[in-house]
Amino acid sequence: MKKVLVVDDNHEILTLLKQEIKKHNNIEPFYARTYKEAMNLVIEHQGKFHAALLDIHLPDAKDKEIVELTSFYNIPSVIFTDIVDEKIQNALLNKDVINIISKNDLSGIVCAVTDISRTLKNYDTTILIVDDSDIYRKILKDSLKKIKLEVAEACDGAQALEILDNNKNISLILTDYEMPNMDGLELTFRLREKYKKDQLGIIVISIVEEQNVISKFLKVGANDFLNKRFTHNEIVTRINANLELLELFGQIKDMANKDFLTGAYNRRYFFDTAEYIYSKSKRHEAPLAVAMIDIDKFKNINDVYGHDTGDVAIQEAKRILDKNLRTSDLMARFGGEEFCVLLDDITYENVRLLFEKIRNKFQNNIIRTDKHTITYTVSIGVYFGSSNSLEDMIKLSDEALYTAKENGRNRIEIKS
Ligand code: GH3
Ligand code: MG
Ligand code: MG
Ligand code: MG
Repeated sequence: MKKVLVVDDNHEILTLLKQEIKKHNNIEPFYARTYKEAMNLVIEHQGKFHAALLDIHLPDAKDKEIVELTSFYNIPSVIFTDIVDEKIQNALLNKDVINIISKNDLSGIVCAVTDISRTLKNYDTTILIVDDSDIYRKILKDSLKKIKLEVAEACDGAQALEILDNNKNISLILTDYEMPNMDGLELTFRLREKYKKDQLGIIVISIVEEQNVISKFLKVGANDFLNKRFTHNEIVTRINANLELLELFGQIKDMANKDFLTGAYNRRYFFDTAEYIYSKSKRHEAPLAVAMIDIDKFKNINDVYGHDTGDVAIQEAKRILDKNLRTSDLMARFGGEEFCVLLDDITYENVRLLFEKIRNKFQNNIIRTDKHTITYTVSIGVYFGSSNSLEDMIKLSDEALYTAKENGRNRIEIKS
């Protein structure tokens, strides 16, 4: 979640904004109804807001004064206003303003909050600009930086391919058509041999408007085409729309790879990815650890508190594991209340310490739902070493789990 400053003196609008913001899980909102309240929040947080949603007419300040404040701290802001005057608009767009949205329009609230949410996601998104013109690269870069995207640059297709090979984080490319060495059309063609449309978006930006050029690009796999006489608003809208689409593709992939209740990876994804980790460790003759984590007496939770509370307990288990594992550890929900973790690049002693810590976290965790307060423990079976196969390692960790249950639960057993 990222911090967002929301300022509006109108009570009804603020209520509607609150409702809309609740639908986005990446926004941590801080609300103010006056310039003074906003100022106090900014000072309290030392200006460290990731975005702001601002009404520019406030009872205790001059028009737009609030924008001076957020711009001073380089907080990207969406302006939410009932007067959209072209002069004001141009003056504002020179500041750290992402977009100006009319309050008069019913969809305004949804658009404003969507823009904010998108901007927060942009902090972690990289776009590659490919153009032989320094000036155009600069214009584009300025627009993208304003919506907080990370920017990489290449001056022709060949350089773009090289950068992509070394930077797997790039999700979208903006490319010019005519360039020396390798033009945009060949670049698009080459990229589509490697990356599908759900992995990498390609937007062509060119002065060439001939219909056959546009259709050639679309045929080789470009996602979108934009004329070089774009305005800031146009480029922002197009880029955001394309990023939104990539995100939808990602959600579809998640639906196939992740478990619906907890958002943890499912068995299928675990085995696909684990095979790769397993063969890498074989090559390096390095040991691996497989841990099986199972909630103790989980049937009791279901029986006493109901299935819904049982579900919360399982979600909580995923949260605790996520929080305490490294990002490189592969974790999946294997069955009802059972999770499996594969860890590489780790020692026996660190495995023991890690899972002892995790066992302890579960024991001390108190879950409060609307109706009940519950606690539970877990048993953990670990296999450490390099066995003949992944299946073998999982079987051995399962046996260790069985021993942990037999020996009284709420404990870890390690086989090696
Ligand atoms: P032990 O300490 O031996 O592990 O006992 P246990 O009761 O936890 O073990 P068991 O595996 O017998 O029970 C697991 C229960 O989990 C049975 C099943 O009804 C329940 N379960 C499986 N999936 C879900 C789910 O998605 N939600 C809820 N609420 N319960 C589930
Ligand atoms: Mg050019
Ligand atoms: Mg159990
Ligand atoms: Mg079980």
